Amino acid sequence: MIIQYKKKRGWLGTVFLVEILKGMGLTLRRMLSRSVTRQYPEERPEIRIGFRGQHALARDPVTGGSRCVACMRCAVVCPSRCIHIEYKKDEQTGVREVQSYAIEALRCIYCGYCEEVCPVNAVILTEVYEYAAYKRDAFYFDEEQLLKNWDRFIEESRYDPTKYVNPFWRPRGIDERTLAGPRRRSVPDDWKMENQWVGTGMTKSRKTGARCDVGGH
Ligand code: SF4
Ligand code: SF4
Repeated sequence: MIIQYKKKRGWLGTVFLVEILKGMGLTLRRMLSRSVTRQYPEERPEIRIGFRGQHALARDPVTGGSRCVACMRCAVVCPSRCIHIEYKKDEQTGVREVQSYAIEALRCIYCGYCEEVCPVNAVILTEVYEYAAYKRDAFYFDEEQLLKNWDRFIEESRYDPTKYVNPFWRPRGIDERTLAGPRRRSVPDDWKMENQWVGTGMTKSRKTGARCDVGGH
């Protein structure tokens, strides 16, 4: 094994403060190079299309309540078992009515399966990422809170709530109107397939202050 000892500084190095000059040179180089830090919160990170943020339940534009039809798919597929739904069923019509809906966000692993499997685009992993809290209870989202989360998301992103669909969770190139969910939540007449592309609305609206239209890419 070869042991290398640090070279002893010569008298020239001591007189001309070589080590200090080297350090100052390094500082100067860093000052002039491109900054890699972000001045958060003034500079916001760009939100990618598949971003999985705070959970929300999308509002039905007609009833004002949740779009959820209590199919239970999200609760069944959830690997963390953190979605809790109670419903009652009309025995004659077979229609289910949600009695309670809750997500334990602290147990969620943000896999996105719930959003992917939901046939009516009711449960959404929004682009909201600022929801820190001091108490654990704040992360138990009941139905009322999930609807409030949706309102906040729409307010901050400025999406049109009646048209919001995140194509990251949808099969590519398939017209939303042909799927069961959008048919059930009455897609507007002016819906265009090319306008399905939504995402990064919060980044855009915060950068420009402008309304972020669906299909703005
Ligand atoms: S993102 Fe995954 S873990 Fe979280 S609630 Fe949805 S299905 Fe469950
Ligand atoms: S998958 Fe959608 S419609 Fe079905 S229970 Fe979950 S949120 Fe409701």
